[in-house]
Amino acid sequence: MQLEEALAVLQHHHWKRTPQRQRVLELLATAEQPLSAHDIVREMRPFYPDISAETIYRTLHQLASYNIIVPIHLHSPGGERYEWSQTHHHHQICLHCGQIACLPACSIEATPAENGFFVTQHVLEEYGYCAACQTQRSSSEQKQKREEERFL
Ligand SMILES: [Zn+2]
Ligand SMILES: [Zn+2]
Ligand SMILES: [Zn+2]
Repeated sequence: MQLEEALAVLQHHHWKRTPQRQRVLELLATAEQPLSAHDIVREMRPFYPDISAETIYRTLHQLASYNIIVPIHLHSPGGERYEWSQTHHHHQICLHCGQIACLPACSIEATPAENGFFVTQHVLEEYGYCAACQTQRSSSEQKQKREEERFL
């Protein structure tokens, strides 16, 4: 969804467009990875020192109810995040730096309903180490090894 499209939806719902709300929208529309309410508060604080987490939560819930953003229930620290509405897909979460990467479109098919169960949605999250953290880990391991060798 384009930002203009989202603004049209909001106008249709008579959503009051304050500068703060506009900023939240822009942050989500341009974010490189899903954002938590906490991330948004942190981004907004320098410009709006009295902004509260509750205000942000309320705004996020409203935007999600209009399907402009989608809640993502990541098991990583910080909990629920939101991302701009787009094609259904999954995420990879780095256990070291917390970076969240979006995966290409999903290829998982619903399990045939042999037991009569009707699947409406599914969740998949991959955990591991991003490329940068792998390099860091291997170089710090090597460094540790060199230091150990020095004492032998
Ligand atoms: Zn990482
Ligand atoms: Zn994503
Ligand atoms: Zn999927």
